Amino acid sequence: MSGEVHVVSHPLVQHKLSLMRRKHTSTSQFRQLLEEISMLLTYEVTRDFPLTTERIETPLVEMDAPFIEGKKLVVISILRAGDGILGGVLKIVPSARVGHIGLYRDHETLKAVQYYFKVPADLADRDVIVVDPMLATGNSAVAAIDRIKERQPKSIKMVCLLAAPEGIGVLHAAHPDVPVWCASVDQKLNEKGYILPGLGDAGDRMFGTK
Ligand code: URA
Repeated sequence: MSGEVHVVSHPLVQHKLSLMRRKHTSTSQFRQLLEEISMLLTYEVTRDFPLTTERIETPLVEMDAPFIEGKKLVVISILRAGDGILGGVLKIVPSARVGHIGLYRDHETLKAVQYYFKVPADLADRDVIVVDPMLATGNSAVAAIDRIKERQPKSIKMVCLLAAPEGIGVLHAAHPDVPVWCASVDQKLNEKGYILPGLGDAGDRMFGTK
Protein backbone atom coordinates (compact mmCIF):
# COMPACT_ATOMS: atom_id res chain seq x y z
CA MET A 1 0.00 0.00 0.00
CA SER A 2 1.42 3.41 -0.84
CA GLY A 3 0.32 6.29 1.35
CA GLU A 4 -1.84 9.30 0.62
CA VAL A 5 -0.42 12.70 -0.28
CA HIS A 6 -2.71 15.74 -0.28
CA VAL A 7 -1.34 18.86 -1.97
CA VAL A 8 -3.34 21.89 -0.86
CA SER A 9 -3.64 23.85 -4.09
CA HIS A 10 -5.75 26.70 -2.71
CA PRO A 11 -4.60 29.97 -4.35
CA LEU A 12 -3.94 31.64 -0.99
CA VAL A 13 -1.62 28.79 0.02
CA GLN A 14 0.22 28.82 -3.29
CA HIS A 15 0.63 32.63 -3.29
CA LYS A 16 1.97 32.69 0.26
CA LEU A 17 4.33 29.79 -0.49
CA SER A 18 5.81 31.66 -3.45
CA LEU A 19 6.46 34.66 -1.19
CA MET A 20 8.21 32.37 1.28
CA ARG A 21 10.43 30.82 -1.38
CA ARG A 22 11.88 34.20 -2.43
CA LYS A 23 15.37 34.53 -1.03
CA HIS A 24 14.90 38.19 -0.04
CA THR A 25 11.79 37.55 2.06
CA SER A 26 12.59 38.79 5.57
CA THR A 27 12.59 36.65 8.72
CA SER A 28 9.46 38.34 10.08
CA GLN A 29 7.57 37.97 6.78
CA PHE A 30 8.68 34.33 6.50
CA ARG A 31 7.44 33.55 10.00
CA GLN A 32 4.15 35.35 9.45
CA LEU A 33 3.56 33.57 6.12
CA LEU A 34 4.36 30.17 7.62
CA GLU A 35 1.81 30.77 10.36
CA GLU A 36 -0.81 31.85 7.82
CA ILE A 37 -0.23 28.84 5.54
CA SER A 38 -0.26 26.54 8.56
CA MET A 39 -3.72 27.79 9.50
CA LEU A 40 -4.94 27.02 5.98
CA LEU A 41 -3.32 23.56 6.01
CA THR A 42 -4.95 22.90 9.39
CA TYR A 43 -8.34 23.72 7.90
CA GLU A 44 -7.75 21.00 5.28
CA VAL A 45 -6.19 18.34 7.51
CA THR A 46 -9.07 18.54 10.00
CA ARG A 47 -11.75 18.34 7.29
CA ASP A 48 -12.67 14.71 8.06
CA PHE A 49 -12.93 15.10 11.84
CA PRO A 50 -16.20 13.51 12.95
CA LEU A 51 -18.91 15.64 14.50
CA THR A 52 -21.38 14.87 17.22
CA THR A 53 -24.27 16.98 18.44
CA GLU A 54 -24.97 18.54 21.79
CA ARG A 55 -28.14 20.19 22.95
CA ILE A 56 -27.55 23.93 23.40
CA GLU A 57 -29.64 27.01 23.95
CA THR A 58 -29.28 29.98 21.64
CA PRO A 59 -30.80 33.23 22.94
CA LEU A 60 -33.96 32.21 21.06
CA VAL A 61 -34.44 28.41 21.03
CA GLU A 62 -32.85 25.06 21.80
CA MET A 63 -31.04 23.15 19.07
CA ASP A 64 -28.78 20.12 18.48
CA ALA A 65 -25.49 21.85 17.63
CA PRO A 66 -22.48 20.15 16.00
CA PHE A 67 -19.21 19.80 17.92
CA ILE A 68 -16.01 17.87 17.12
CA GLU A 69 -16.24 14.40 18.61
CA GLY A 70 -13.62 12.63 20.69
CA LYS A 71 -10.59 13.55 22.73
CA LYS A 72 -8.47 16.63 22.15
CA LEU A 73 -6.15 16.65 19.14
CA VAL A 74 -2.41 16.26 19.78
CA VAL A 75 0.06 18.23 17.67
CA ILE A 76 3.65 17.00 17.76
CA SER A 77 6.29 19.37 16.49
CA ILE A 78 9.62 18.12 15.18
CA LEU A 79 12.08 20.67 16.59
CA ARG A 80 12.97 23.21 15.77
CA ALA A 81 11.32 24.14 12.49
CA GLY A 82 8.09 22.29 13.36
CA ASP A 83 7.30 25.08 15.83
CA GLY A 84 6.66 27.38 12.87
CA ILE A 85 3.73 25.20 11.82
CA LEU A 86 2.65 24.50 15.41
CA GLY A 87 1.83 28.19 15.96
CA GLY A 88 -0.60 28.20 13.03
CA VAL A 89 -2.27 24.94 14.09
CA LEU A 90 -2.82 26.29 17.61
CA LYS A 91 -4.44 29.45 16.26
CA ILE A 92 -7.11 27.25 14.65
CA VAL A 93 -7.27 24.49 17.31
CA PRO A 94 -6.32 26.33 20.53
CA SER A 95 -7.34 23.44 22.77
CA ALA A 96 -4.92 20.97 21.15
CA ARG A 97 -2.35 19.20 23.32
CA VAL A 98 1.27 19.63 22.24
CA GLY A 99 4.31 17.38 22.08
CA HIS A 100 7.88 18.00 20.92
CA ILE A 101 10.46 15.71 19.41
CA GLY A 102 14.03 16.92 19.06
CA LEU A 103 15.87 15.39 16.14
CA TYR A 104 18.92 16.69 14.39
CA ARG A 105 20.18 15.63 11.03
CA ASP A 106 23.65 14.12 11.06
CA HIS A 107 25.17 16.04 8.16
CA GLU A 108 27.39 13.08 7.18
CA THR A 109 24.80 10.29 7.16
CA LEU A 110 21.66 12.51 6.81
CA LYS A 111 20.13 10.18 9.46
CA ALA A 112 17.94 11.53 12.29
CA VAL A 113 19.40 11.49 15.81
CA GLN A 114 16.92 11.99 18.69
CA TYR A 115 17.85 14.30 21.60
CA TYR A 116 14.41 15.18 23.06
CA PHE A 117 11.01 13.48 23.39
CA LYS A 118 8.12 14.93 25.39
CA VAL A 119 4.55 14.18 24.35
CA PRO A 120 1.22 14.02 26.27
CA ALA A 121 1.11 10.85 28.38
CA ASP A 122 -2.15 9.49 27.01
CA LEU A 123 -1.94 9.31 23.23
CA ALA A 124 -4.28 6.31 23.09
CA ASP A 125 -7.62 7.25 21.45
CA ARG A 126 -6.19 10.57 20.26
CA ASP A 127 -5.58 11.85 16.75
CA VAL A 128 -2.02 13.09 16.27
CA ILE A 129 -0.75 15.59 13.72
CA VAL A 130 3.03 15.61 13.27
CA VAL A 131 4.37 18.92 11.95
CA ASP A 132 7.64 19.73 10.21
CA PRO A 133 7.86 22.27 7.36
CA MET A 134 10.27 20.25 5.24
CA LEU A 135 9.74 16.56 4.43
CA ALA A 136 13.18 16.18 2.84
CA THR A 137 14.97 12.81 3.29
CA GLY A 138 12.03 11.57 5.37
CA ASN A 139 14.42 10.24 8.04
CA SER A 140 13.25 12.62 10.79
CA ALA A 141 9.59 11.97 10.05
CA VAL A 142 10.13 8.19 10.15
CA ALA A 143 12.11 8.39 13.42
CA ALA A 144 9.47 10.65 15.01
CA ILE A 145 6.56 8.46 13.91
CA ASP A 146 8.37 5.28 15.07
CA ARG A 147 8.46 6.77 18.58
CA ILE A 148 4.91 8.15 18.46
CA LYS A 149 3.48 4.78 17.37
CA GLU A 150 4.89 3.18 20.55
CA ARG A 151 2.18 5.21 22.38
CA GLN A 152 -0.57 3.80 20.13
CA PRO A 153 -2.54 6.89 19.09
CA LYS A 154 -5.81 6.51 17.19
CA SER A 155 -4.41 8.08 14.03
CA ILE A 156 -1.36 9.98 12.78
CA LYS A 157 -1.25 12.56 10.00
CA MET A 158 1.77 14.53 8.81
CA VAL A 159 1.60 18.21 7.87
CA CYS A 160 4.49 19.90 6.11
CA LEU A 161 5.00 22.87 3.85
CA LEU A 162 7.19 21.25 1.19
CA ALA A 163 7.76 17.57 0.48
CA ALA A 164 10.43 15.97 -1.68
CA PRO A 165 9.40 12.86 -3.64
CA GLU A 166 12.31 11.04 -1.95
CA GLY A 167 11.02 11.95 1.51
CA ILE A 168 7.48 10.85 0.72
CA GLY A 169 8.88 7.54 -0.55
CA VAL A 170 10.92 6.95 2.60
CA LEU A 171 8.03 7.95 4.90
CA HIS A 172 5.48 5.78 3.14
CA ALA A 173 7.84 2.80 2.86
CA ALA A 174 8.01 2.82 6.67
CA HIS A 175 4.55 4.20 7.49
CA PRO A 176 2.09 3.79 4.59
CA ASP A 177 -0.80 4.49 6.99
CA VAL A 178 0.32 8.09 7.61
CA PRO A 179 -1.19 10.51 5.10
CA VAL A 180 0.71 13.70 4.24
CA TRP A 181 -0.70 17.21 3.75
CA CYS A 182 1.59 19.77 2.12
CA ALA A 183 1.55 22.92 0.01
CA SER A 184 3.85 21.47 -2.69
CA VAL A 185 5.68 18.33 -3.74
CA ASP A 186 8.90 19.80 -5.08
CA GLN A 187 11.30 18.34 -7.66
CA LYS A 188 14.02 16.54 -5.74
CA LEU A 189 16.73 16.71 -3.07
CA ASN A 190 20.19 18.06 -3.75
CA GLU A 191 23.35 16.21 -2.65
CA LYS A 192 23.16 17.89 0.79
CA GLY A 193 19.57 16.79 1.38
CA TYR A 194 17.99 20.20 0.66
CA ILE A 195 14.73 20.35 -1.26
CA LEU A 196 14.85 21.88 -4.77
CA PRO A 197 13.60 24.40 -5.70
CA GLY A 198 12.65 24.61 -2.01
CA LEU A 199 13.13 27.65 0.19
CA GLY A 200 16.46 26.97 1.89
CA ASP A 201 16.82 26.06 5.54
CA ALA A 202 13.37 26.59 7.07
CA GLY A 203 14.67 26.85 10.65
CA ASP A 204 17.29 29.44 9.76
CA ARG A 205 14.83 31.44 7.72
CA MET A 206 12.15 31.46 10.41
CA PHE A 207 14.47 32.20 13.32
CA GLY A 208 17.02 34.39 11.52
CA THR A 209 19.93 32.19 12.57
CA LYS A 210 21.97 32.58 9.41
N1 URA B 1 15.39 21.14 5.85
C1 URA B 1 15.27 22.41 5.45
O1 URA B 1 15.14 23.32 6.27
N2 URA B 1 15.32 22.68 4.13
C2 URA B 1 15.47 21.73 3.20
O2 URA B 1 15.48 22.04 2.01
C3 URA B 1 15.58 20.39 3.64
C4 URA B 1 15.54 20.12 4.97
